[in-house]
Amino acid sequence: MEYSREELAKALEKAKRDWEETLAKMTPEERAAAERKAQQALAEDEARRKKLLDSVAAIMGKPAPKARPNFCSHCGAPAGTGNFCEYCGERLV
Ligand SMILES: [Zn+2]
Repeated sequence: MEYSREELAKALEKAKRDWEETLAKMTPEERAAAERKAQQALAEDEARRKKLLDSVAAIMGKPAPKARPNFCSHCGAPAGTGNFCEYCGERLV
C-alpha cells in the first residue's frame, strides 16, 4: 500500500498530536518514565543496528584471514616467511 506525501504528513501530524495529548495527560513522573523508556528503546535500537552493521562488515568487508600453514603441505618442511616452500617450491599461501 502506498501513501502520498500528504497522507504521510497527516499521519505524522496525528501521531504527534496523539503523543502530545498523551503527554499532557501524564503526571511529570509518568512523563519522565516514558521519556526514559523511549531513550532506552532508542539506545537498544542503536545497539542492535550497530551489532548488525558490525556483523555485515565482518562478513562483507573482512574475509576471515587465511591461516598461514606452519609446514609445507607437499614435503612437510617448516614453512618459512615466503609464499613458497624453501625446500620444494610448493605454494604455501
Ligand atoms: Zn615443501
